[in-house]
Amino acid sequence: MKLVLRGHHLLCLKGFQGYGYDKSFTENMIDVNFKRKQKGATVKLIAEPDDICSSCPNLKDNICENELQNNNIIRMDLEVLKQFDSKKEYDSIELFEKIDDIFNSAESVSEICSNCMWHEKCLFYQKSLNNR
Ligand code: SF4
Repeated sequence: MKLVLRGHHLLCLKGFQGYGYDKSFTENMIDVNFKRKQKGATVKLIAEPDDICSSCPNLKDNICENELQNNNIIRMDLEVLKQFDSKKEYDSIELFEKIDDIFNSAESVSEICSNCMWHEKCLFYQKSLNNR
């Protein structure tokens, strides 16, 4: 099974606890979150709409909300992608273990998560604050 994920969504998946923009978004998020934990699953990393955005009501004409927001989202992706090789196809389980190792403090996620509307509900972000 191959997943295509934008950089910052690696962190979102780690922190997901069932919240989303609407039913279809949340059901898809649950599905992607299940698939990424399966043995043999792989992940290609990108900085554009992905397998999560495809069910998001905010995605219009391949843009997240508007130009400003879209640029901010891409900036978040690129912060994560600095740590990885976007030409590579990663084993999903190993990739998400690396996420835990790399983004393990408030400082390490501040550039990525601090302006996200979900950060109060995100388990990954909250955990990172506790590792301050
Ligand atoms: S809010 Fe934007 S980045 Fe997040 S899932 Fe929706 S379209 Fe994708």
